Amino acid sequence: MNRLTDKVALISGAARGLGAEFARELAAEGACVVIGDVLDEDGSQLAEDIGPSARFVHLDVRNYDEWSGAVKEAEREFGRLDILVNNAGVVRSAPIDEHTLDDWNLVIDINLTGSFHGIRAAATALKASGRGSIINISSDAGLQGYGGITGYNASKFGLRGLTKSAAIDLGPYNVRVNTVHPGLISTPLLQGMKFPQDHVALHRMGEMSEIAKLVVFLASDESSFSTGAEFVADGGESAGLAHAAS
Ligand code: NAD
Repeated sequence: MNRLTDKVALISGAARGLGAEFARELAAEGACVVIGDVLDEDGSQLAEDIGPSARFVHLDVRNYDEWSGAVKEAEREFGRLDILVNNAGVVRSAPIDEHTLDDWNLVIDINLTGSFHGIRAAATALKASGRGSIINISSDAGLQGYGGITGYNASKFGLRGLTKSAAIDLGPYNVRVNTVHPGLISTPLLQGMKFPQDHVALHRMGEMSEIAKLVVFLASDESSFSTGAEFVADGGESAGLAHAAS
């Protein structure tokens, strides 16, 4: 359990859900983790649960100064930064003709511009690491269209473009940048809703640990030749329509 020994990670939106699972899994593999979120109580509790290798910082990903503060916290507390996971995300649902501009702006600001801020704020530290890894949490909605989530769909497609461009700019510094595309995973984002998965090859939703293991792989040197790429863990949802469950 030491695939990330001597590495330091900053994870946005890590107080709960997938981000919290990433923090626990990265720490279990030997990394020090800085948990950034707007949920101060949950984030502080998680850092306490993980132990001395974890810190919590208040981080609203829409605020560049708070990103800079989070990077400084990683360097002050753990001496370096090697891994950035842009995970914070929100979804707003409505048919496109009822999707408000306010909801569109909120989703783009958090999911896409928030990740842009994160990459800019962390770039110097990640270049200094000499083996940096940025993992942008997109979605199946970054690979194909879904009705009723226009802003979310656009933000998650946008993350792919941001990722590829950043990968080209940061490649000479051995900083790798990739996207992860989860299918439906049971987290607070879905607020206990049930989604039939008969159209998905594996006929089920995913577990948080199944995405965390992919994030560990991308954070580690095991993925040293992968950059600007898309890593899908969706039970086959984006492969095409599955046979009906028997
Ligand atoms: P979640 O709602 O459980 O967690 C999201 C976290 O982001 C929360 O802790 C929340 O406080 C934080 N957050 C929200 N706005 C923020 C802001 N402005 N600044 C900082 N933090 C903020 O959701 P989740 O399901 O764990 O989703 C995590 C990521 O995975 C998101 O980017 C989401 O789009 C993506 N994703 C989730 C699923 C799924 O099925 N759950 C599928 C594909 C992709």
